[in-house]
Amino acid sequence: MNMVPSPADAPTGRAALQVPARVAAVIDGEPQWQGEVLPVVDPFREEVVAELVESAADTVSRAVAAADRAFREGAWPRLPVEERQSVLRRVADLIDREAAALAALECLNTGIPLRQLDLGQIRRSACNFRFFADYLGQAVGEAWHQTPGVTTVVLRRPAGVAALIGPWNAPLALTSMKVAAALAFGNTCVVKPAEQTPLTAWRLLELLHEAGVPPGTVNLVQGRGSVSGAALVGDPRLARVSFTGGTVAGRAVMAAAAASLVPATMELGGKSANLVFADADLDQAMDAALLGIFSNNGQQCLAGSRLLLEERIAGDFLAEFARRAGRLALGDPFLPTTDLGPLGSRVHQQRVLAHLRGALADGCELLAGGPEAAVPTAGCFVAPTVLRASDSRLAICQEEVFGPVATVMTFRTLDEACRLAADSRFGLVAYAWSRNVDTLSRLEAELRVGTLWQNLPMTRELRAPFGGFGESGVGREGGRACEAFYTEETTVSRATGPRPPLRRLGL
Ligand code: NDP
Repeated sequence: MNMVPSPADAPTGRAALQVPARVAAVIDGEPQWQGEVLPVVDPFREEVVAELVESAADTVSRAVAAADRAFREGAWPRLPVEERQSVLRRVADLIDREAAALAALECLNTGIPLRQLDLGQIRRSACNFRFFADYLGQAVGEAWHQTPGVTTVVLRRPAGVAALIGPWNAPLALTSMKVAAALAFGNTCVVKPAEQTPLTAWRLLELLHEAGVPPGTVNLVQGRGSVSGAALVGDPRLARVSFTGGTVAGRAVMAAAAASLVPATMELGGKSANLVFADADLDQAMDAALLGIFSNNGQQCLAGSRLLLEERIAGDFLAEFARRAGRLALGDPFLPTTDLGPLGSRVHQQRVLAHLRGALADGCELLAGGPEAAVPTAGCFVAPTVLRASDSRLAICQEEVFGPVATVMTFRTLDEACRLAADSRFGLVAYAWSRNVDTLSRLEAELRVGTLWQNLPMTRELRAPFGGFGESGVGREGGRACEAFYTEETTVSRATGPRPPLRRLGL
């Protein structure tokens, strides 16, 4: 990998913080400072750390106009592939150069432990650009020669202006995937980060321009989904909408896109099963189960939030799982000793606590954490919580809590395991731990999920499609999936030799 390391003496942790005082829309490379001002909050100290200038509908419209102009007249869609590749690789190098500062900014704005950002999401953001740069150089086309005298080739051309809307739980990692994919295939775009977490997207725009992406190619709008988001997805000049967020907002976005017949991909919520069979490597399954629900403060679409245990091993496994959950360190997300930081906002913390109270009222057994557990007094914390449920129809087993909350149920047979795992309106991912090939094959056949990890903790393979069944979404991200989504096809059939006479038409 061609990484540009940060200088050895570059500051890390809080010392690496460079917080912009204000962030705003960026159109044609120029910040737009007019608009309502909203606070950007650090969910640990609950302090305002920056201001966001919200993009009203007219600002959003100008952002789409800029992207539209850049698409019709600008350099980017016409750039030779090699040049596009080298700009994308330069973006990746700049993300690596700025990794410590980006991780610090993301940590401040999201409360995700810095250690997890350093190791995961920030590197992933650079990888996203390298991945699509590499993909581009190897992309293959279609040609058909079966009809005598005719050669048909399929041209893939950039789709146009893409609206790229991201959530607050992994802002840079998820938004960079969308930007890298849209740019790789020659599109221009308008990016809308979540209003709560706009800071790293702002920095990304600067890095894109520094890397040589022409102004106007990637534009940024800011603010609430109901204001700037709704204005963006209702714009008929869009060619694509790529949305990652909750199922409720996803429905609204898809309906708005449909009004202009704009294709949309939806990466939505999840309530994923993590099945542990008695014959599994239980140590590995244990580590992965903890990681699956408690990393990223439990705020992950692909969280293994429904732990399903084979009854024979459930007693010991569950006792150890609850014990280790109870020992996770809550605190300052900047400290290397912290396992869980605060949730993304006070409002979200209250929502998660309400889910926990509802679960207890529904008769769930509390094995760790809970709404009354001791947590740091400052910051929007929820203790890692383990709840034993007796019925998978309970709200806590059906709703996406989006916090550090695992429900546990047991099964006796493979049939029962399949039935419990399938009892969800979501279908994003599932995890399965077993040494029995027949068990794994049966799950492969039965579970209607976008990704099934077998004896493996969450491990995103960028080359492969990622997305969900049911209420987890529509469409896929990944190499070929993004190529298909961000391009339009034109079929060109050309005479290449003698053709049969046109007598059939009577000419
Ligand atoms: P939301 O659905 O609330 O918001 C996602 C984004 O959409 C935000 O930028 C939001 O703006 C914007 N938005 C909201 N309403 C509209 C609208 N009507 N029109 C246009 N844009 C709108 O999700 P969260 O930010 O709360 O993210 C958490 C959710 O994301 C969870 O359900 C999680 O499972 C899902 N997710 C899915 C992933 C996947 O790959 N499947 C990955 C990560 C998360 P704003 O917030 O500023 O109001």
